[in-house]
Amino acid sequence: MEIKVNLATQLKEKPTDESKLGFGKIFTDHMLLIDYDTNRGWYNARIEPYGPLKLDPAAACFHYGQEIFEGLKAYYGKDGGIYLFRAVDNFKRFNYSAKRVCMPTLDVDLAMEALKKLILLDREWIPETRGTSLYIRPTMIATQPFLGVEAADNYLFYTILDPVGSYYPEGLNPIKIYVEDRYVRAVAGGTGEAKTAGNYAASLLPATEAKKKGFTQVLWLDGCEKRWVEEVGTMNMFFVIDDEVITAPLTGSILGGITRDSVIQIVKNWGLKMKEESVSIDEVIADATSGQLKEAFGTGTAAVISPVGQITYKDKDYVIAGGKMGELSQRLYDEIIAIQYAEKPDPYGWVEKIG
Ligand SMILES: *Cc1c(COP(=O)(O)O)cnc(C)c1O
Repeated sequence: MEIKVNLATQLKEKPTDESKLGFGKIFTDHMLLIDYDTNRGWYNARIEPYGPLKLDPAAACFHYGQEIFEGLKAYYGKDGGIYLFRAVDNFKRFNYSAKRVCMPTLDVDLAMEALKKLILLDREWIPETRGTSLYIRPTMIATQPFLGVEAADNYLFYTILDPVGSYYPEGLNPIKIYVEDRYVRAVAGGTGEAKTAGNYAASLLPATEAKKKGFTQVLWLDGCEKRWVEEVGTMNMFFVIDDEVITAPLTGSILGGITRDSVIQIVKNWGLKMKEESVSIDEVIADATSGQLKEAFGTGTAAVISPVGQITYKDKDYVIAGGKMGELSQRLYDEIIAIQYAEKPDPYGWVEKIG
C-alpha cells in the first residue's frame, strides 16, 4: 500500500531543554493514519500534519470502549543511528489486543514500514541525551457512527510521537507502591491481557486514591482471592527472593510486557534462577520482613526498570533493599539501556537500525 505524505507547512517549536521533557506532553509535527472498512480492509495510509481528529459523536469508540494502543520507543544510538527496540513484538501484541476486543488486525509489515517513514520524517524531534527517547503511541479506535453494543465496521489506526525523558518524576529513584486490596484491575477471562482503554479507566480511581496518600503506583492483586500479586499500573512486577528472580505467570489477567520478556531472557542468559510463578502478597510481606526479599522492581517500556523501595499493605510499610535501587535492578537497567542505545552488541536481535 502506498503511504501518502502531506507535509506540515507550519512546523512546531521543538523543546530546547531535554532535561525537562517529562512524559506524554509534547507531540511531533506529523502523525500516521490508516482507515479500515470491513468490506475494503485497510486503505488510505497517510502521514499528515499532527492535529485534531474529526469524529462523529456517535463513533463507537466513545460509547463502548473499542480502543487499543501500544507504547514503544525509538532512540538515537551511540553511533548517531536511529534504533527501534522490539517494534515487531509491539505490533504482534497490538494484533493480540485487537482480536480480544473484536477489532481488525494490522499487517505488521505495513505497520513497520509506515512507522519508520513517520519517525524518519520527524527525526529532528528525537532527543539525543542518553535516557531520553521518542515514545511511539500506535492506537486504534472504532469510528463507525452508531449506538449499539456490537463490533463496528470502521476503524482508524493512527500513531503519534512524543519526545520523552523519564516516566516518573523520581527517575531511577525507588518508588513507593500501595497494595490494592479493595479494587481489582482484571480477572482471568477478562481483558487484562489486552492493552485496551477500559482496563486503564477502571484503574484511575484506585490510582488517584493511592497518589493522594503519596504512592506512585498501585500493586494489583488477583481479582478472585486478592491474594496473588499481579502487576502495577503500567508495569509488570519482579521480586528477587533469596537468589531467585520471580514474576507472575501470564494467566490471562496480566499484560504480557515486552520489557518483562526481555528481563526474563536476560536473567536466564546470565545463568540466574528465573521463575514465572504466582507469589502471594503474604509471602512477599513475610520475605520483606525476614530480609529474604532482596529487591523488587517494575518493568515497562516507559520506565524500563523501576525499583520499588517500599510496599504498603493494610496500612503497614515495608522497606525493600533499604529503600535504594537493588544491585540486580541496576544491572538489568544498565544492560537494557546499553542494548537500546546500541552501546553494546545485541545478542538477542532486539534492536533495529532504521536510519
Ligand atoms: C504496557 C503495560 C505493561 C508493560 O509492557 P511493556 O511492553 O514492557 O511496555 C505492563 N502492564 C500493563 C498493564 C501495561 O499496560
